[in-house]
Amino acid sequence: MYWRNERRKKMSELKLCQGTKCHTYHTQDRLKGTKENKTYQTRRRSSFYYGNGNFCSLNCQNDWFNDFGDRAIDHFGRLTESKHLTEDNAWVKDYDYRGGWSNENRTYVYRNAVTKEQRPLTEQQYHDSNYTLNER
Ligand SMILES: [Zn+2]
Repeated sequence: MYWRNERRKKMSELKLCQGTKCHTYHTQDRLKGTKENKTYQTRRRSSFYYGNGNFCSLNCQNDWFNDFGDRAIDHFGRLTESKHLTEDNAWVKDYDYRGGWSNENRTYVYRNAVTKEQRPLTEQQYHDSNYTLNER
């Protein structure tokens, strides 16, 4: 079973769900501790699927956002006017899907969503989040 494998890992290798109310949800996998001292605890796993790997569920992600979302947006900069999609910021990384699921035959391209222009892209550039043709 999935959770048995998780238990074998060192506690330090595991991540804690960042959900502010994770420990308040009554599920068997959250109930931990010795017989008389069992408590519902924040989920701890080697990886999570939600919120960039920080949350065990969409519920926990929403709890976090409800508690901290406004402060996070204000901290990193709240939009005060609409952004506009122009040819200077419309570059989108893409690849040819005809190669199927395998990465081997993929052709990577940079596609401009406004002008429809295409430029070749290396696999390295595709995965490099700092590489962009868009104006910042
Ligand atoms: Zn959680």
